[in-house]
Amino acid sequence: MSSAIINGKEIGQEIRKSVEKRVEKLKEQGIIPGLAVVLVGENPASKTYVANKQKSCEAIGMFSELIKLPEDVTQEALLDQIRGLNEREDIHGILVQLPLPKHIDEEAVIATISPEKDVDGFSPVSVGKMMLGQDTYLPCTPFGVMKLLEHSGIEVAGKHAVIVGRSHIVGKPMGQLLLQKDATVTYTHSKTPDLPSFTKQADILIAAVGRANFITKEHIKPGAVVIDVGINRDENNKLCGDVDFADVADAASHITPVPGGVGPMTITMLLENTVQAAEKKLEQDKAE
Ligand code: NDP
Repeated sequence: MSSAIINGKEIGQEIRKSVEKRVEKLKEQGIIPGLAVVLVGENPASKTYVANKQKSCEAIGMFSELIKLPEDVTQEALLDQIRGLNEREDIHGILVQLPLPKHIDEEAVIATISPEKDVDGFSPVSVGKMMLGQDTYLPCTPFGVMKLLEHSGIEVAGKHAVIVGRSHIVGKPMGQLLLQKDATVTYTHSKTPDLPSFTKQADILIAAVGRANFITKEHIKPGAVVIDVGINRDENNKLCGDVDFADVADAASHITPVPGGVGPMTITMLLENTVQAAEKKLEQDKAE
């Protein structure tokens, strides 16, 4: 059997085109959707992520502002910056690039972002609303995976989805979104004994582990849909996912590559959330 490759780059581009049209509409009404990106310190990976996010914003006509703070910034100074951004009319979305330096309380920082501008969907308010199925900003990576499945015509309802990983930003919300679409969901993690006995039951397998080429053929039920969230470097320093693509490709019905799978969708959904925030603000202003 040979599997269909889910092309995240192509699907992402398609969605970005429709987001761009919404940006144009907002501009006609005098609004430029604005994203503020807060970067603390000099982490090279974070710098690359932030640069890509800014570039993607600008490519579709959105405004983006980088707030660069030194590694030794105090917690209070960082919170003050966020409070200031919460008040700004030209900023519709706020993103704080993680991880933050150890002396900063990450939870306090995220909780300070106004829920109306929490386009990463990480704040307790956004997470609570997502759990309750209420209107909110969905965390970009799991939101992107849902779009990949939808655009690839993969039915979720009634399927058994197994998630490997339970982080706050990927694994946990991923399971919730699949559950909301009527999948039966199993979470697995580092304390799960005999992992393959669970993953082999998956119609849809989501790998969000952070370990290079960790998922192999022995984890897969033939014909499963395999979504690889991981972004890792292998022993040759080559970019790779959590799934051993070459080993698994023949067994899966659909599979996402790394790069070019889930990665491009994460930024796409950030753009989507920011435009949504600007649209909501416009509606609110009109109603007042
Ligand atoms: P975390 O390190 O926060 O979480 C990893 C999860 O994997 C944990 O829940 C951990 O379990 C579990 N795990 C670790 N080892 C095993 C094991 N041997 N067996 C089963 N489960 C295990 O990572 P993230 O969720 O933040 O990210 C996961 C991957 O996705 C990374 O490669 C990251 O770079 C990538 N990523 C990609 C994005 C994209 O845009 N494509 C966006 C965000 C992340 P436990 O909880 O027990 O420790």
